[in-house]
Amino acid sequence: MIDTDIALVVPAPVVPAPVVPAPVDATSLGLATTRQRTSRVSQVITLVAVVVPAVGVASAAGVLWGVALSPLDVVLFGVFYLATGLGITVGYHRLFTHRSFEAPTAVRVTLAVLGAMTLQGPVTQWVTDHRKHHARSDAEGDPHSPHLSGGGIVGTVRGLWHAHVGWMFSTKGMERGELYGGDLYADRPIRLVDRCYLVWVVLSVALPFAIALAVTGSWRRGVEALVWAGLVRIFAFEHATFAVNSICHTFGRRAYVARDESRNNWVVALLTFGEGWHNNHHAFPRSARHGLGRLQLDVSWLVIAVMARCRLASEVHLPTEGQRRRVAVVGG
Ligand SMILES: [Zn+2]
Ligand SMILES: [Zn+2]
Repeated sequence: MIDTDIALVVPAPVVPAPVVPAPVDATSLGLATTRQRTSRVSQVITLVAVVVPAVGVASAAGVLWGVALSPLDVVLFGVFYLATGLGITVGYHRLFTHRSFEAPTAVRVTLAVLGAMTLQGPVTQWVTDHRKHHARSDAEGDPHSPHLSGGGIVGTVRGLWHAHVGWMFSTKGMERGELYGGDLYADRPIRLVDRCYLVWVVLSVALPFAIALAVTGSWRRGVEALVWAGLVRIFAFEHATFAVNSICHTFGRRAYVARDESRNNWVVALLTFGEGWHNNHHAFPRSARHGLGRLQLDVSWLVIAVMARCRLASEVHLPTEGQRRRVAVVGG
């Protein structure tokens, strides 16, 4: 069933708000923080997640160039990019962060595991950081705004770097507590998925290897698939997602009035299954559909719509025509 009754975006209060009730409206939360800084363990894992896939690309381009890219690698790359990417866009973002629809436990667990396989962190960490992003978007306390690093060219470049990658070494994982994640901390299956995070990380590279080994019987082809459908795929989707934080708060069009610098960017939307319609998303954070325009392809929304038809998703939230008209940018 599709429910079109959602609340419009409202300005965030300056003072901290109490523990989050479900469903969560992130814009009602305040500046309070749970941790003073991101943990050293998180910094090391982030460093590995950012550097290792880049080394994978270099090794793929150099060592394997011209001899080690088969149709099987391309298929596995596509399947893993799509499945794990939807784990982030449909699962981590639209389901767990914004509660834009409800789903049975088996679907929730599957999406949480697939999301973890992108190496973007445990779901509670991702969700609590992202809820704070909406609560403080492009203002003090936003974990990854590109607009808080000073003016001029130097400030702009520093801001883009911080929003794209730098924030993961300074402000990531600071909100893993009751304030921004109370509903998830009460969700036992999701807490279990969280605790097994390193298992999903290993599976993310081991599965392409195992599938290629089973199909071809060749260890070398297994390693080849590990590089392309494991390391390179993780690298590619990581940077597509990071671009939502950096590019989509800097470059693109604004269709709706929002109190931040969010933009719609079709290139990022293509690479992230619809997440690039980021201005629409900030205007209607609880909407399960981000591509609200007629030509705005939103693969994640198509997946949610199919899930709803198959009774795997319910209570799907969409903005009404009237709500959209009220905050539409004239000529936008
Ligand atoms: Zn944003
Ligand atoms: Zn969001």
